[in-house]
Amino acid sequence: MKVKNINGTSDNACKCGSWLKHWLNYSGQSLPNYCPEKSCTNKPEVGAHVQKDSANDSSWYIIPLCKTCNAKYGQAIEISDSIKLVSANVSLTCGK
Ligand SMILES: [Zn+2]
Ligand SMILES: [Zn+2]
Repeated sequence: MKVKNINGTSDNACKCGSWLKHWLNYSGQSLPNYCPEKSCTNKPEVGAHVQKDSANDSSWYIIPLCKTCNAKYGQAIEISDSIKLVSANVSLTCGK
């Protein structure tokens, strides 16, 4: 699946404490051993904000990424299909 890494709000964490924790809380998945970017073998370290590479879904999602991949702002990256995209909209998740 292709997603676009979006710049921005990784500093202002939600109620979960960090966006990585947010992903863990709502994905139902455990942290993968490797960054989900297809050619990357770093450890996932941060919860990154991404958008689907799709014209009809502009919502923001959180996925775990390594710091190197998370620094590639604005770029489309190919990630593993097994990674769940968790909504970054706190009014649908931890802000309820
Ligand atoms: Zn949260
Ligand atoms: Zn990576």
